[in-house]
Amino acid sequence: LMLLVQPLNFLGFVYREIKQSLVDMEKMFELLFVGREIDDSPSARTLEVRDAAIEFKDVDFGYEGNRQILHKVSFRVEPGTKVAIVGPSGAGKSTISRILFRFYDVNAGRVTIDGQDIRDVTQASLRAAIGIVPQDTVLFNDTIRYNIAYGRPGASDAEIEEAARLASIDTFIERLPDGFDTIVGERGLKLSGGEKQRVAIARTILKGPQILLFDEATSALDSKTEKEIQASLSEVSQNRTTLVIAHRLSTVVDADEILVLDGGRIVERGTHTHLLEMQGQYAEMWARQQEAATYQEKLEQALT
Ligand code: ATP
Repeated sequence: LMLLVQPLNFLGFVYREIKQSLVDMEKMFELLFVGREIDDSPSARTLEVRDAAIEFKDVDFGYEGNRQILHKVSFRVEPGTKVAIVGPSGAGKSTISRILFRFYDVNAGRVTIDGQDIRDVTQASLRAAIGIVPQDTVLFNDTIRYNIAYGRPGASDAEIEEAARLASIDTFIERLPDGFDTIVGERGLKLSGGEKQRVAIARTILKGPQILLFDEATSALDSKTEKEIQASLSEVSQNRTTLVIAHRLSTVVDADEILVLDGGRIVERGTHTHLLEMQGQYAEMWARQQEAATYQEKLEQALT
């Protein structure tokens, strides 16, 4: 009987391994090709990034049928500056990031990078120019080193460690049982949302793109984690054209311009100080979040 059971056990093991690898691959494809129904146009050229200026000009967009999600959205992100998009849930913030990464094409208006319409360039060159830190980062069932190196296959250990340091996740990694060789992911050590996002930031630092798209996680973070993510984000966005989709206003205080989106329309825009002076929707959101932050800090203090 043992002769029969052992190979079956082995087959079971092989089956589970293959199944898990397929799950990994599926996740990777989801990550890379979410909603990708768009093909390169036959005359598509390589995107030539010079200063990395982004422009949305009168963009109208709807996912399907006649429900329009974005209405005449126009803004510019000047080279090396940071623009943040804030607004209530469902306003269309993440839709803007999906359009920039060209998961979808606009219905009207246009999106350009250094004057080149993103519909006229190859998707490979567009996506090579943009580093995304998504809301929910996919980790592979592999070492943390591999997960960071994924940003630039072939990176040296020294480069990986430097990226981890800049993303302020190095101390956390050094405390793990096997350091950079610790297996993470579904079958390994599970990381918190904030830790995963810092792995994504380290990946992006390694990739070194000229444009950065940061989709902040909606999930609440404790104030320490939030500060750490904040620090690594400002590190990675230095001298890069950055678009931040923000859920917490503390993330956007230093942005060169903040766009307040509501119902798919930009209803207010300006710097943090300017928007507070306007005493409109942004000022109201700020007051509410300040209250919530004070309450959270008190709660954290009481619990420690
Ligand atoms: P949140 O702060 O909750 O993440 P958001 O401002 O990022 O919200 P979006 O995710 O851009 O909002 O969604 C804007 C609108 O588009 C919502 O009404 C949403 O239901 C709709 N929507 C988003 N994704 C799709 C999709 N794949 N197909 C159809 N409608 C969608």
